[in-house]
Amino acid sequence: MPRLFVAIDLPEETKDQILGLREDDLPPGRWAGREALHLTLHFIGETPEKQARRYMQALQRVDLPDFALQIGGVGQFPVDDRPRVIWVGVRNTSALRALHEAAGRALQNQGFRQEQRRFHPHITLMRFKKPLRRGLASRWLQAHLDFHIESFSVREFALYESQLRPGGAVYTKRGVYALATP
Ligand code: ATP
Ligand code: MG
Repeated sequence: MPRLFVAIDLPEETKDQILGLREDDLPPGRWAGREALHLTLHFIGETPEKQARRYMQALQRVDLPDFALQIGGVGQFPVDDRPRVIWVGVRNTSALRALHEAAGRALQNQGFRQEQRRFHPHITLMRFKKPLRRGLASRWLQAHLDFHIESFSVREFALYESQLRPGGAVYTKRGVYALATP
């Protein structure tokens, strides 16, 4: 069964800038490669193929204009504990929330149970198998709090399939859905 999620891909220049954050003054972990950089809107999980096709059709009906995505800041998950993930922040604008909600509704109409946690848009940069010891990442986080890049226009979003591999998940787009300003 495919493991699915809905996400926004990033322009290559944006990825270049994010990848420029890679440094070796962080404790060893798994840096996200170029192909792994994305902004997750909804994690769906393991889905029977027939159901996946229903989701694809439903997402085609999302009808929203393109919008600017603003990327900046860095942080960690969990926020108040030893980090498992280090991320680059994304401004939670009303246009981004509108897309998050519209995609969520489209999936829910096909039986998807949306998670109740608040949407916290981010781009995962690094993952640690074991949570880092407290404080180990704080210097790096402090040093990059001001990180930001020029906003870009989101013109599409995608349904991704994730294959979990020992070296990190491999993602493939199963469907791409255009946003357009009329
Ligand atoms: P790995 O699990 O091997 O570290 P990954 O997390 O990138 O790799 P997936 O677990 O398939 O791969 O997740 C795909 C995307 O969905 C990622 O952006 C991940 O952060 C996000 N995601 C996974 N599980 C959840 C969840 N329960 N809630 C919200 N987002 C999730
Ligand atoms: Mg995961």
